[in-house]
Amino acid sequence: MRRVTLAAALVMAAGSAVAQDYPARPITIVVPAAAGGPTDTISRVTAQSMSKLLGQQIVIENVGGAGGTIGTARVVRAAPDGYTLLIYHVGLSTAATLYRQLPYDTKAAFAPIGLITDAPMTIIARSDFEPNTLKELIPYLQGRSAKTTIGNAGVGSAAHLCGMLFMSETKLQLTTVPYRGTAPVMNDLVGKQIDMSCDQATNTTGPILGKQVKAYAVTTRARLKSLPDLPTADEAGLKGFELAVWHGLFAPKGTPPAIVQKLSTALKAALQDPELVQRFSSISTDPMTQDRATPEVAERTLASEIDRWAPIIKAAGQYAD
Ligand code: ASP
Repeated sequence: MRRVTLAAALVMAAGSAVAQDYPARPITIVVPAAAGGPTDTISRVTAQSMSKLLGQQIVIENVGGAGGTIGTARVVRAAPDGYTLLIYHVGLSTAATLYRQLPYDTKAAFAPIGLITDAPMTIIARSDFEPNTLKELIPYLQGRSAKTTIGNAGVGSAAHLCGMLFMSETKLQLTTVPYRGTAPVMNDLVGKQIDMSCDQATNTTGPILGKQVKAYAVTTRARLKSLPDLPTADEAGLKGFELAVWHGLFAPKGTPPAIVQKLSTALKAALQDPELVQRFSSISTDPMTQDRATPEVAERTLASEIDRWAPIIKAAGQYAD
């Protein structure tokens, strides 16, 4: 009994010594999507504020492909020492069902640090796409759906999930085009090489305001302050169509609790940094509230979202493999 107590005390002391020195060198945050896209932007803004607070450089490494699972696997395999972290979103929870042979068990692979934001999605098209409203879009697509291309960031991405919900809701089967992230999707949409996409407003607000793409709806319950003329999907005719993309910061399982705690404190403070608040607002999203930016809520969200999407994906019979 005494031995156990002593051992526990030693582990705690070692843990707090590690945490005291942490971070002693630059931290890498893996973003499993292309540079310049929405997850990347959210990650860079968050990392910038956290870096100021931690007094250490944070490097973003973009590892896109396979709906985020390649970059995620890289973090799962990394040393659990607080120097390799992941920022990703709802795609972590959908991939758990979409990919039947993932090299990790999503529910058990992480020491979650906290949620960052719930990003709205927008349903968009190239600027010269004929329909001007969602009401015009749906009949227009009937009979043309196979010819209509919709870009996403691979099976398991938020854009894929949004497109899948749109198609099941409208009973249309569009031709999906996978990319390594939605930054290249946006390039091709602006260049009119593809017809449609559904992407986080964090990536689409600028091009919508600049009329480089056409927007049909936002997937949140309320309209966005930054795009007040854009109707919600529900208002525009897709009743009950709602999707907000939660993003979170995760460390690999086994990361010392004292380091998780330090990162969690830095994340919560970063989400109150006026610079971050202003940047998030300019890309149509809000920082997560302090009570939800915690390791416990991130852990619960990941598990409950895996359980929430599993039956929907199984019913759709859509697998990545
Ligand atoms: N928006 C992408 C997605 O659909 C990811 C990205 O490029 O940030 O998941």
